[in-house]
Amino acid sequence: MSVIVRFAPSPTGYLHIGSARTALFNWLYARHHQGKMLLRIEDTDRARSTREAVDAIYKGLEWLGIDWDETPVHQFERMQRHVEVAQELLAIGMAYPCYCTPEELDEMRKEARAKGQPIRYDSRWRDRSPDEAPPGAQPVIRFKAPQKGNTVIHDLVQGEVHVSNYQLDDMIILRADGTPTYNLSVVVDDHDMGITHIIRGDDHLTNTFRQFQVYQAMGWKIPHFAHIPLIHGQDGAKLSKRHGALGIEAYRDMGYLPEALRNYLLRLGWSHGNHEIISTKEAIEWFDLDHVGKSPARFDFIKLANLNGHYIREMKNDDLLNLLIPFMEKKRLTLNPEALDLLKRGMNGLKQRAKTLVELADNALFYVTIPNLDEGAQKILDIEGLELLKLMEGYLSSFPETRWTEKNLEDYARKIAEEKNLKLGKLVQPLRAVLTGKTVSPSVFEILHILGKDKSLKRLQKYISSNIN
Ligand code: GLU
Repeated sequence: MSVIVRFAPSPTGYLHIGSARTALFNWLYARHHQGKMLLRIEDTDRARSTREAVDAIYKGLEWLGIDWDETPVHQFERMQRHVEVAQELLAIGMAYPCYCTPEELDEMRKEARAKGQPIRYDSRWRDRSPDEAPPGAQPVIRFKAPQKGNTVIHDLVQGEVHVSNYQLDDMIILRADGTPTYNLSVVVDDHDMGITHIIRGDDHLTNTFRQFQVYQAMGWKIPHFAHIPLIHGQDGAKLSKRHGALGIEAYRDMGYLPEALRNYLLRLGWSHGNHEIISTKEAIEWFDLDHVGKSPARFDFIKLANLNGHYIREMKNDDLLNLLIPFMEKKRLTLNPEALDLLKRGMNGLKQRAKTLVELADNALFYVTIPNLDEGAQKILDIEGLELLKLMEGYLSSFPETRWTEKNLEDYARKIAEEKNLKLGKLVQPLRAVLTGKTVSPSVFEILHILGKDKSLKRLQKYISSNIN
């Protein structure tokens, strides 16, 4: 049997980070088994399913590098087919019209609450003849759920899970206005799309029991289920806005690389020995459902940032520069060819320190503009710092441009430090402060070299002349 999975998001305005992980697991499972990954947009909530909300899903998946097979299915367009199956269930006696009034339902609710019992419809129209229907009333159609025994699911992640059928009432499958309900539509679509494995969040487990019963009633082959635990925040509560961003595009804007986020999401709830850095090729080779954890994984921003730093360091400088440009442009900088060249040459040093593209852009700023001094840099340039700066400016002025390389500059500074009986760090820290505006940066000698003699000295001189009392 070849594997067919699907990712079935409901448009909410963005691709939720948890949904992105579900998509990733489905995608890896399909690719691992050389099966198919289908996409179904569950757009029956017409108010929420705007063009932008649907596009956000496509864009989010594309950014993450998750593709799908075949044309995406739009659930709303299949409504007629869902109604048809409801009619079929009626015809085979597995569904029935229910004429309960809102008042009656309210009464049932109140009674259940008073007794501290779960709220359930009491099946009062299950065996009643439609002849007894109040004239002109529009019924809902309810599913004839089994009333005895248990429904048991052998979940590929959760193991055996079961519910007593008494707890599941006869759910509505067609509303009074004739529109189908969610649990019917999902089953019909999954069946018609030939889905063999349903991999989704474990918040759907209660739906699964009901859906399982519909498969049984229709005599359809039941797919395998794998319910993956949801993502929680560091405090153990379900991931929500207060923990941080939920939409995938926010992670893009914070400067995470899709490779890093994908690696992180993969490890969030799935493991392969002690491997932390996992390439896509390895992920496809290794992914299985056996090693998906049963308990919720906690989202760890520090781990994500570290992983992102790794992928930034590993990336080719040219590719990184292309990604960096929009982040620099957000700072209202226009990058002329000279600036791009400086960034490119500075990339080796810059990328060692940045955990996100936002950080990389911040750290790279000094190559393309005269930086403002941060608090630490200002502190370094106290009276003593300024004296050291002047001293070094003098020495550097007389250093020949033809020998202006990182190595030569470093040797030169070492010699001066020795002569003056100063630590090298102490001697060059004021240079760093003026050149970069910060106390931490790539090597000062690398920066001097990349900026070149002229630019470097101008920067130092400008600072000195505006700070002479
Ligand atoms: N549309 C549902 C959601 O976004 C998923 C349904 C399913 O996977 O069966 O949570």
